[in-house]
This record gives sequence, C-alpha cells and structure tokens, in this order.
Amino acid sequence: MPTFNLLLLPGDGIGPEVMAQARRVLDWIEKRGLATFNIEEGLVGGAAYDAHGKAISEDDMKKAMASDAVIFGAVGGPKWDKVPYDVRPEAGLLRLRKDLALFANLRPAICYPALADASSLKRELVENLDIVIVRELTGGVYFGEPKTITDLGNGQKRAIDTQVYDTYEIERIARVAFDLAKARKNKVTSSEKRNVMKSGVLWHEVVTQVHQREYKDVELEHQLADALGMQLVRNPKQFDVIVTDNLFGDMLSDVAAMLTGSLGMLPSASLGEVDPKTKKRRALYEPVHGSAPDIAGRGMANPIAMIGSLGMALRYSFGMGKVADQIEEAIANVLASGHRTADIRGSATKIVSTQDMGDAILAELDKLAA
Ligand code: NAD
Repeated sequence: MPTFNLLLLPGDGIGPEVMAQARRVLDWIEKRGLATFNIEEGLVGGAAYDAHGKAISEDDMKKAMASDAVIFGAVGGPKWDKVPYDVRPEAGLLRLRKDLALFANLRPAICYPALADASSLKRELVENLDIVIVRELTGGVYFGEPKTITDLGNGQKRAIDTQVYDTYEIERIARVAFDLAKARKNKVTSSEKRNVMKSGVLWHEVVTQVHQREYKDVELEHQLADALGMQLVRNPKQFDVIVTDNLFGDMLSDVAAMLTGSLGMLPSASLGEVDPKTKKRRALYEPVHGSAPDIAGRGMANPIAMIGSLGMALRYSFGMGKVADQIEEAIANVLASGHRTADIRGSATKIVSTQDMGDAILAELDKLAA
C-alpha cells in the first residue's frame, strides 16, 4: 500500500470546518486500505500569527517542504485586518507558493447538472462543463521589474509594471497543460495577446515549439486572450485545457469559476517542478474560496471545494485517479439527490450543514466502492 506525507493547514474561519470533512475522506481512504497517510497538521494565516507572530512558522515551512502535498484551507478575517503587512494572513500562502516554487495553478471549472441553474449562463451552455485553466503563477506582470510609480515633477506621475517571461517559464507551464490534456480530452488552447505584446509573441512561439517537439499527439489551438474571454461565456464547452499567463489566467479563471455557480464548489491545485531525482513535484491544494468570516463557526460552509481539492491531490500527487473519480462521482450524486448547503440553495427547501454534506459524500463513497 502506498504511503504519502501530507501537511494539513486548515487556517482561519471556515478553513478548519471544511478541512475536518476532507480529513474524514482521508480516513475513509485509509480504512478501505487504498493508501496510508502520514498526516501532520500546522498553523497558517491568522491562527499562525496568534501562535507565533508570523503567518507561518519556520517549523511548518519545513514540514511543507518535506511533504508530498500540502492541503490548505483558507486564511484571513477581520481579526487580523490591522496586523503588520508582512505578517498578514495571506503572507503565509504567498510564502508557501514562493518557497515551494509553485509555478502552475490549475483551476477546474466543473458544472454539475444538478447546479446548472445556479450559473448566470443558460443550462445548455454549462451543464456538464468540465474545463481546466492552467495559469502561470510565479512570473509575468505581477512580478516583473521595474515596477514603480515615479513622480514626474509636473503634477503627473508615471506607473510602470513589466510583463516579462523567459523561454523556460513558458516551456514548463506548457508541459503541465499538455500532460494534463493527455489525461483528459487531449486539447490545449493557449492564450496570449501576441497582436500587441512581445511577451505574447514569445509565448505563442514557445508553446508551438513544445507542441511540435514533445506533444504532437495533443490538439493545440491558439486564441487571443480577449477573444478567449468572449468564447468562455459564449460557448465554454469548446475548451478542455486552457493555458495562459499570470494576468490573463487570473481574470479568465474567475470568469470560468462563475460559470459553475458558487465559490464553495471550486477546488484548485498549485504545482511545482518535477524533482529529477525523486520524480515527485511539490504541490499545494486549496479551495478557491476564502475564510468566509460571515458564516464561520456556524456549520454552514460548503465542504465540496475542499474535498474536491483533496481529490485533485489524489489525482495529481498520489496517482490515485480512480479514487479521485469516485470522489467527483460521489459529489455529483449527492447534489443530484438534492443535498444543498446554503450557498447552493437555489430553490431547495431543505438546507444541510457542513457535517451533513460530509456524511452524504462518505455514504455515497461507500456505495460507489461497494
Ligand atoms: P470569501 O471567499 O471568504 O467569501 C465570499 C462569499 O462567499 C461570502 O459570502 C462567503 O460566506 C461565501 N463563501 C465562501 N466560501 C464558502 C463556502 N465554502 N461555503 C459557503 N459559502 C462560502 O471571500 P471574502 O469574503 O472576500 O474574504 C474573506 C476573507 O478571506 C478575507 O480575509 C480574505 O482576505 C480571505 N481570502 C482568503 C483566501 C485564501 O485563503 N486563499 C482567498 C480569498 C479571500
């Protein structure tokens, strides 16, 4: 039986509430004899600030570096709004992303038929939607230098951000997208603005070269980022894997997210380089949502994004695609049978708690595995 080292960082607000349900799924996998998990639990965000005066301790950082995957809840809340900038709750997540060198952010947008009416688009456009946006996470205009605001001395100021990409950064994110597509519907759409940006010209060139050299069997198309934004709301099911830079990925993944309904449904993965020696890659899995202070402590949080993030860990870090499929099927079945937390209530009359939703998913997993 395989053994994996996991670091759980529940964080703040609803983070610990939804993490508790993911932990029950881990227990279920162990009880079924499918894998063993060496689980460590640490503090991040406001919880770490309260305990250590910083957003993540060095000890927990060491555990993160030594883990096969970090499973992250959410951080932040009004209690820590006034703490110094460099130890604010989000700094814990940023430090993890930086030190683990997580350059690829994967955000699936899946629309379960039972929730299709929660989308702002028509049911037929989104029902059974299943696409993934692969966003470059550590480069581009958010990090490029110079990054300045200069006083021009004539009552004017000048702001500069720099969009910068090197070949290797585009190659490695392209490989993540092509590998992902091979395990899905075998199609990659690469997106940039080569009509107006030099970084777009290079992006297009490098993605095309990687495709020619290493992934000729995968279908590749290119769409300008503005056109892709339009297509994403016109006909989202035409896509399989979309790969794009940090800035466009930030925007397009939020658009894709809203095609599917609630924040409480959206998982994500952030991946680093494959270590040539161990063949493993550093990885962090987290729901897209934040700590939801407005509902924290009330047992109302939807645990599906968190459990879905664990499912991604099983698929991408642990090679347990079959169990990940079962988790997705269990979620779909539970939704189809009418279970709703408040955020995905729609016209449902009965609302279930976080724990009830966890119970229902586990019961469904039992059925699927029987
Ligand atoms: P949020 O995602 O926490 O909440 C937005 C809205 O969605 C709220 O009404 C909330 O109740 C609801 N919601 C979110 N997740 C839900 C779930 N699982 N089930 C049911 N409802 C859910 O975003 P926000 O309100 O803008 O931010 C709250 C705090 O979270 C802030 O401190 C912010 O900085 C932080 N934040 C953290 C992360 C992260 O940890 N990655 C991401 C976004 C925001």
